Amino acid sequence: MSDDAAFRPIPGDVLPRFAGVPTFMRLPHVPPDDPRAERVDIGLIGVPWDGGTTNRPGARHGPRQMRDLSTMMRNVHHVTGVQPFRAARCADMGDSPVNPIQLDDTLARVEAFVAALHAQAIKPLTAGGDHLITLPVMRAIADRARPLGMVHFDAHTDTWDRYFGGAQYTHGTPFRRAIEEGLLDPKRTIQIGIRGGLYNATDKEWGLAQGIRVVEIEEYFDLGPDRVAALARETVGEGPVYVSFDVDGLDPVYAPGTGTPEIGGYSTHEAQRMLRALRGLDIVGADVVEVSPPFDPSGTTALVGVTLMWEILCLMAERVGRDREGAS
Ligand code: MN
Ligand code: MN
Repeated sequence: MSDDAAFRPIPGDVLPRFAGVPTFMRLPHVPPDDPRAERVDIGLIGVPWDGGTTNRPGARHGPRQMRDLSTMMRNVHHVTGVQPFRAARCADMGDSPVNPIQLDDTLARVEAFVAALHAQAIKPLTAGGDHLITLPVMRAIADRARPLGMVHFDAHTDTWDRYFGGAQYTHGTPFRRAIEEGLLDPKRTIQIGIRGGLYNATDKEWGLAQGIRVVEIEEYFDLGPDRVAALARETVGEGPVYVSFDVDGLDPVYAPGTGTPEIGGYSTHEAQRMLRALRGLDIVGADVVEVSPPFDPSGTTALVGVTLMWEILCLMAERVGRDREGAS
């Protein structure tokens, strides 16, 4: 246990949870150039950008509303008993720089921001932003000699090739690019919840030909969350893993605030069960993306998004704590 008081959330009996300047989970704000940053294990960051969105924008507003709703999180996981803020040193490292009107510049800025964290051995847990933001994060943290595995929750494969005649970079293409660039190992990748109409009957072929394990929603409901999670563990194996959660993998009754909703998804509880079954994996980075507050002014989708971040944080922190104990 790190049990380092400098990296604890503000207690709710010191400052009520509705008060104060919101940071992720009421953690201290530690920008990357702060001297405390070198001691951080897990950095919670925002990427307020939706320039990769092909249809309904708004995810640029995700991190701010997610920070606000994240003040609802507490200290102890109610099922696993994990206490992430004791197991690992966590901090809100702020938002990555972005350029709201230039895609290439934004990809470069996000990569540089996350690379600076990675150089200090900080694992990123990111609130998007649209799903294209996962690509520069992977560029910053992936070791091409040992590409990432991935557990990917989404209604969409995000392995399309081009859009509008030539655009290579949209929120529908990050994992095609990541595989082409050698960042992501398709044979250690599982996509859970895929559904919705296609543009062309051949849209599914590329990913399957690469060896991605695609669990369409019909198979998901045939197997159930526990067996699908077991399949995920089997697929990603022992190596470094990235967890990417697009909130549109959930049924839109649970997460209406997103740009590309598809009906017939899994529930929030089922998503929690699947995430909890990933305990012990070597999760080197993760994100929750596509929360789009303009489509859900109630804030429910942002609450769902940050609660999934909390579930993932508990997984990451438990592993960090275990590795530290093993090393000492
Ligand atoms: Mn996606
Ligand atoms: Mn999606």
